[in-house]
Amino acid sequence: MIPTAVIQQAEQEFLDWNGSGMNVMEMSHRGKEFTSIANKADADLREVMAIPENYKVLFLQGGASGQFSSIPMNLLRGRTTADYFNTGQWSKKAIQEAKRYCDVNVVASSEENNFSTVPSKSAWKLNPDAAYVHYTANETIGGVEFDDIPDTGDVPLVVDLSSTILSRPIDVSRFGLIYAGAQKNIGPAGLTLVIVRDDLIGNAIPSTPITLDYKIQADNDSMYNTPPTYALYIAGLVFQWLKKLGGLKAMGEINQRKAEKLYSAIDNSGFYQNPVEKQYRSWMNIPFTLNNADLDAAFLAGAKTAGLLTLKGHRSVGGMRASIYNAMPEEGVDALISYMQKFAKQNR
Ligand SMILES: *Cc1c(COP(=O)(O)O)cnc(C)c1O
Repeated sequence: MIPTAVIQQAEQEFLDWNGSGMNVMEMSHRGKEFTSIANKADADLREVMAIPENYKVLFLQGGASGQFSSIPMNLLRGRTTADYFNTGQWSKKAIQEAKRYCDVNVVASSEENNFSTVPSKSAWKLNPDAAYVHYTANETIGGVEFDDIPDTGDVPLVVDLSSTILSRPIDVSRFGLIYAGAQKNIGPAGLTLVIVRDDLIGNAIPSTPITLDYKIQADNDSMYNTPPTYALYIAGLVFQWLKKLGGLKAMGEINQRKAEKLYSAIDNSGFYQNPVEKQYRSWMNIPFTLNNADLDAAFLAGAKTAGLLTLKGHRSVGGMRASIYNAMPEEGVDALISYMQKFAKQNR
C-alpha cells in the first residue's frame, strides 16, 4: 500500500504541481521545480533516518536485484572475497550474483532449517579479510527478520533493507551501505535507494557500467542520467507523511503492535500456523498456513469478498502471507484478524 494521504496529495497536484502548470512527470529533471522536489526528498529522508553527514544518499534504478551486482562491483576495492549470510530466497539470489565477481564465504546458513530462523551467533564464520559482510535484514518471502544488527568489527556491513526500511528507527552509522527497492516500504516501483559511507566509494572495478558507479552518481547528485522522477516525487511525499506521523519511533510502535496482534491471533487459533522461530519473526511479512490446506482457496475467496487482498503466499512457499508494511493501517490488520477468526469458526 501507499499511504492514502499521499495518494490524495498526488491527486490534488496531478494536473498542476505547485502552480507550475505541469504534472511532475512532465518536468525536466534538471529544472528548478524538480530539483526542489529531489532536494527536499533527500533532506527529509536524512532527517527521518538520522543519516550522518559522511553518507551519500543515492536515488537509483535497477531494483534491489540490480544492487546484487552493483555492490560487489563497487565495494570489493581490490579484495577477492566477501561474506554473505544465507537466510532465505533473497540472500540466495544476492549470493548467486556476487559469485560472478568474487569468492563468497557463507558466514552462516539456515537453509537446513527451511529458512525458519537466523543462525545463532556461535555458528557464524566471519572472514576478517572479506571486503564486506552482506545480510538480508528481513527475508520478505520467509518472514524471517534479524533481531539485531550483526557486529562485524572493521569489515563494512552491507544490508538489503528492502522490506524493512523505514519500519522503525535504525542506527545508520553501523553500516557501510544500506540498499532497498522502493516498492515495499518507500513508494512506487522503479526507484532504488542506496545509502553509502563516503570512504567506500571511488574504487569500482574498471568494467563497472558508468550508471552503476556509486562515485559517478554521488558526484552528480544521482542525476548522471535521468532518475525515475515520478517515483522519487511520491517517495518524497511518503517521507513527509512519516515526519508528520512522528517519525520512525512512532512508526515502529505502530508496526510492532500490528505484528504482535496478528502473530498472537495465529498462535492462539489452533487453525493457522506460522513456521518462524519467535525471536526472528518479521514485523512486515507474516506468512501463515491453514492446518487444512484444502481450505486455502475458500479462505482466499472469502478474504477477497471482505476486501482483504493479495494474501496468497509467494509462489515458492504457498500458503498465505500478510504483508503489513507502514502504509497498512492498524484497522486493516484488525479486519484481517476478525476475518480469520470467523473463517476458522465456520470451518473447524
Ligand atoms: C523485493 C526484494 C528484492 C528484489 O527487489 P527488486 O527491486 O524487485 O529487484 C530484494 N531483496 C528483498 C529483501 C526484497 O524484499
